[in-house]
Amino acid sequence: MTVQQDAPTGSGTQDLEVWIDQDLCTGDGICVQYAPEVFELDIDGLAYVKSDQDELLQDKGATTRVPLPILQDVVDSAKECPGDCIHVRRVSDRVEVFGPDAA
Ligand code: SF4
Repeated sequence: MTVQQDAPTGSGTQDLEVWIDQDLCTGDGICVQYAPEVFELDIDGLAYVKSDQDELLQDKGATTRVPLPILQDVVDSAKECPGDCIHVRRVSDRVEVFGPDAA
């Protein structure tokens, strides 16, 4: 499988979701700077994803859909994350497309 370096664009984009492995999160907040629409630091100092209702999902490893307009920001977050703990995967088959486990 070819590794995708940039976010896909156009009508062929599949639904993607993102989750964070909080056990590896350093709490630096880089992801929040890139994509505050989907990432937020909780009072425990770790990053969590937010629902499309802007609700913080405090379960470790919770997933949320990636809104297409900010897909590149989320992908950049995964690339820059010092904990290597942001995972972006296809909703359809849960295959990681951006992040430490991407093929
Ligand atoms: S960029 Fe990565 S390590 Fe930093 S706060 Fe976000 S999830 Fe945690």
